[in-house]
Amino acid sequence: MNEILPTPPVHLSAVALDKSYRKGPEAVNVLRGVNLEVRKGEFLSIIGRSGSGKSTLLHLAGLLDTPDIGEIRLDGKRIDHLPAKTRDQLRNRVFGFVFQFYHLLPELTVLENVLSPLMIRYSMWEYWKKRSELQDQARELIAQVGLEHRIKHKPSQMSGGELQRAAIARSLISEPEILLADEPTGNLDVDTGKGIIELLERLNSERQLTIMMVTHDEAIARKGQRIVRLSKGQVENIRERVAS
Ligand code: ADP
Ligand code: MG
Repeated sequence: MNEILPTPPVHLSAVALDKSYRKGPEAVNVLRGVNLEVRKGEFLSIIGRSGSGKSTLLHLAGLLDTPDIGEIRLDGKRIDHLPAKTRDQLRNRVFGFVFQFYHLLPELTVLENVLSPLMIRYSMWEYWKKRSELQDQARELIAQVGLEHRIKHKPSQMSGGELQRAAIARSLISEPEILLADEPTGNLDVDTGKGIIELLERLNSERQLTIMMVTHDEAIARKGQRIVRLSKGQVENIRERVAS
């Protein structure tokens, strides 16, 4: 079936981004004029060799760092130059982050880890008032990622795939519009990695979640609707958008 659907609007864009790091006396120009657009509800894969700047690009896109030159735009409006506090708020509300090494807090259970972004967002008093509603939301998400049997477990008692599912549930608790995933399967065996990608595909189609996923694995990248490659500090189109 070849339906013709209207193209969704651009959700997040990188415009002429430059970023360099200083390594001793030398500057390393990691990004040199990167232009990239991701549309609402799109699942975009970004590939590139180790050291090509994939994580750097994702960090700039999610306001974890600022470009030297260029802009990040959300729904067409520039966001990278906003005051730090506004950027923090945007980062916490608009973006969800998933990393290769999960970054779960070892002392907390799955339920507590998933709730942790809300403990930061709300004051202690507000959190306490809302806690039963928030816990229900967290339990629901934990079930959606297939971890209902691990709700009270701590990270040391869980497998890599389970840890990544917990990290994904935590990234969704703030109801982000855009999920930024940096090598989400990089630490997992092939089959476990496939399960994680299937979960991301489901979240993309069921919630219209916009996803930018970085990977060095082309087979994993092909699960996205569109693929771009970072090379020599710039973005090349590898595969145009296909219906998922
Ligand atoms: P990738 O994720 O594609 O492997 P990165 O974006 O992590 O690439 O890194 C790109 C280049 O920038 C690498 O050469 C790396 O060493 C360098 N780099 C990344 N972050 C920093 C930093 N905070 N300070 C100095 N150099 C960095
Ligand atoms: Mg990286």
